[in-house]
Amino acid sequence: MIELYHVSKQYVKNDYALQDVNLSIQKGELIFLTGASGAGKSTLLKLIFKEEDPSKGQILIDSQNINLIPKKHLYKLRRNIGIVFQDFKLLDNRTVYENIAIPLMVRGERKSMIERKVNNALTLVGLKHRKNYIPLHISGGEQQRVAIARAIVGNPKIIVADEPTGNLDTDLSVEIIKIFERINANGVTIIIATHDKTLLQMFGKRILRLDKGRLVTDRSGEAAR
Ligand code: ADP
Repeated sequence: MIELYHVSKQYVKNDYALQDVNLSIQKGELIFLTGASGAGKSTLLKLIFKEEDPSKGQILIDSQNINLIPKKHLYKLRRNIGIVFQDFKLLDNRTVYENIAIPLMVRGERKSMIERKVNNALTLVGLKHRKNYIPLHISGGEQQRVAIARAIVGNPKIIVADEPTGNLDTDLSVEIIKIFERINANGVTIIIATHDKTLLQMFGKRILRLDKGRLVTDRSGEAAR
């Protein structure tokens, strides 16, 4: 589903954010991407949703070379990818419901359809009772659940999450990963960047480790335990 061939990224000359990364992710996997700060995790995720382009190499998603997607067709790729950030990126002047509905409103979906999909997403993350709150009036863990609901509401095939638990304590972090597991059980491919060793050990998933831009470890779930 996601394939990287000899992918390198240089933001500045002679300085590799990623160097010769080769990687294959199957449909339906849930993967942790780890490594020290500056190792290249965010860069790898940005290449997948094409916020950045590789300096060298090819990236295939569903067998399509995304290097070749023209800007005006980028929205088609982005519709298939839900994104979750460390700092939630919610709109403070909108309700939980509205925050989740936004991607669907942008697409011009019917109001009744939006209502159904947002309610389903709210149920999945366990937040139906918070739908009329504004983000400032709910906890950090709940805000991240809203962001996850927003990421899944458009029914993407892939979710990329960049340090989604970075602002949360261990208990809440575990809760968030369990929500990702639930989404993954529906067949969504998920990549979670984290340097939280507790999560890496607890969930026994495949682990990709970057070190100074190089993929140094690719360990299957069982070996990771
Ligand atoms: P991580 O997510 O693992 O912390 P990043 O992908 O953010 O790592 O960064 C990898 C390297 O690329 C770092 O050395 C970082 O300073 C550099 N980098 C990231 N984004 C940019 C940018 N927009 N311009 C220049 N250098 C960047």
